[in-house]
Amino acid sequence: MDNAKLRKQVKDEFMEYLTLHKYRKTPERFAILDHIYSTKGHFDMDSLYKSMIDVNFRVSRATLYNTIELLLDCGLVVKHQFGSNASTYERAYGNDNHSHLICMSCGNVREIKNGNLFTQTQQKKIKKFTVHYYSMYIYGICSKCSRDKKIEMEKLTSASTDDKSSNNNTEKKQDKK
Ligand SMILES: [Zn+2]
Ligand SMILES: [Zn+2]
Repeated sequence: MDNAKLRKQVKDEFMEYLTLHKYRKTPERFAILDHIYSTKGHFDMDSLYKSMIDVNFRVSRATLYNTIELLLDCGLVVKHQFGSNASTYERAYGNDNHSHLICMSCGNVREIKNGNLFTQTQQKKIKKFTVHYYSMYIYGICSKCSRDKKIEMEKLTSASTDDKSSNNNTEKKQDKK
């Protein structure tokens, strides 16, 4: 589905939801939804606020929070909690099925395409439930963190061998303090 079509579809869905719950259909709410569906990837409240200002759309943080709550409630936006980071959001439709690789050391989150981790046949076997999308959280250590750790370890081991081999050096260093 092309993006214009998708933006129209989610707008209609949001309209229906607001009508059903007798919520106000303010232009701000639709502008926020449209902005979210014009950009891909993850966002948090701060980055959303900033990116809306970047396109000259002034909206109060209160309106933003309030609208996100509504979008979560009607399922147009998905909320993630990656470790201890601030809540991260992403649009529910128009994303390829993907999983999240979460680094336990720096908190960095990377998306990977799911491939065939969960096949059509497996999905059909699930009874009394229609699968719309799925996502996995995979926790581990990113390459940057493991590299940094290795360098840190090398420094520590070389420092301790230095201590043993040349006590004089350490004494000189201490004298300078
Ligand atoms: Zn990391
Ligand atoms: Zn994601």
